[in-house]
Amino acid sequence: MKRIIKKVAVLGSGVMGSRIACHFANIGVQVLLLDIVPKEPTPEEQAKKITTDSKQFRNRIVNSSLQAAVASNPSPLYRKSDAHLIQTGNFEDNMKDIATADWIIEVVVENLKIKKLVYDQVEQFRKPGTLITSNTSGIPIHLMAQERSEDFRKHFCGTHFFNPPRYLKLLEIIPTPDTDQAVVDFLMHYGDLYLGKTTVLAKDSPAFIANRVGIYGIMQTLKAMEKTGLTIDEVDRITGPIVGRPKSATFRTLDVVGLDTTINVANGLYQAGEQDESRDLFQIPGYVQQMAEKKWLGDKTGQGFYKKT
Ligand code: NAD
Repeated sequence: MKRIIKKVAVLGSGVMGSRIACHFANIGVQVLLLDIVPKEPTPEEQAKKITTDSKQFRNRIVNSSLQAAVASNPSPLYRKSDAHLIQTGNFEDNMKDIATADWIIEVVVENLKIKKLVYDQVEQFRKPGTLITSNTSGIPIHLMAQERSEDFRKHFCGTHFFNPPRYLKLLEIIPTPDTDQAVVDFLMHYGDLYLGKTTVLAKDSPAFIANRVGIYGIMQTLKAMEKTGLTIDEVDRITGPIVGRPKSATFRTLDVVGLDTTINVANGLYQAGEQDESRDLFQIPGYVQQMAEKKWLGDKTGQGFYKKT
């Protein structure tokens, strides 16, 4: 079957979803970018008498994320002029519109239960044969495919983009034993040729390839920092450009990625390492947990290890 990707549905418009949407728009592909309906109006919305049944309210999350992605990425890869290719909406009103997509990419929060709830909705509206992939950083792909229809499982795969997708070329393709080989071949070809990526075929192993190595490095750095008493600034100075990383060092990277996402991936590696003596390395230090509890998640909440200016 010859596949043509004219429209991609991106489910979840946070840090990654909004940027993946921009990336597709910049290669001329139409995008449907959806997210959940916010729980209640903000005080500003209340003052403006914006109610929960207005479209403006229901699409608030997705619109503000998209604006942030477009505004914060003024490089030639994220041309604002392509933003018109992105149609925004919310799961409640627009999930049915995924029937018009050639590829559905799930990019919601790193939580298996929530992802499964989203797939319940996807199964109601997805056209048979449509590609359905997850951008999970580390949840086992086969667990997400469990209990799905045969057509879903054949077209389901992990497609792990890296943050920010405009700079980071790696795209991990992670099939399950049920994924059609033609789907894997297509995604690798499309990633290399159209998305400008270097695709890598990864096994469905804990945190796949790059995050397994990356989180290992981050956790080792945190431990070494505790032992040596180095400051955040000092660690960033010696793990940044002077060792060949173009911009981001350890803590800058954590703020860009989001502490919640990092914690979820580390927890996944900890749980997966039951038989492994070195699993304690993946235990998140108390002060990082406390930051997450205070919603100091990084750039997305305005405060992480650094304050966003
Ligand atoms: P994020 O927190 O910025 O965005 C998550 C989105 O999920 C939000 O827009 C939110 O509204 C939505 N969401 C929250 N609760 C929901 C619910 N109950 N039902 C439906 N949607 C809900 O997270 P992110 O960083 O964009 O991560 C999204 C996915 O991409 C995760 O699986 C993550 O592991 C993966 N990922 C993240 C990065 C990164 O650097 N942040 C990199 C690669 C992959």
